[in-house]
Amino acid sequence: MNIGAETVVSIHYTLKNDAGEVLDSSDGGEPLVYLHGSGNIIPGLENALTGKASGATLKVTVPPDQAYGQRNENLVQRIPKNQFPDPNKVEAGMRFQVNGPHGPMVLLVQEVTPTEVVVDGNPELAGQTLHFDVQITDVRKATAEELSHGHVHGPGGHHHD
Ligand code: ZN
Repeated sequence: MNIGAETVVSIHYTLKNDAGEVLDSSDGGEPLVYLHGSGNIIPGLENALTGKASGATLKVTVPPDQAYGQRNENLVQRIPKNQFPDPNKVEAGMRFQVNGPHGPMVLLVQEVTPTEVVVDGNPELAGQTLHFDVQITDVRKATAEELSHGHVHGPGGHHHD
């Protein structure tokens, strides 16, 4: 079966940056399972997989505009330290989730000064060109329920109570 609208796709993948460093990989774990055509994965990767068959391997290079977008320096903000519940425990490199105007977002602490915390709300991979090595391990038809929910059920997918 080939990948197209209304298919559920399982892939193993390794993601590298321009420097060739591995950023993420499914090696040694379960494959990534997603509903094709529903925006469950980044557009550049989804588009490259369209029409491919189970068993295929491919290399995909995805520019930032087809991945996590360009960096937005307006998302780097200085917050007074006293607005943190436990200011003395805040350190550079920490990540925490807050409710932003468009839903939950993750902030990375870039720097802590005596009075302020500098946080970066950009997606971790914003501004980066992504290099994927992909192996397609399974392609199946999506169920009506999966299509109505917009995500995969069962192994590798959502589990509802
Ligand atoms: Zn569901």
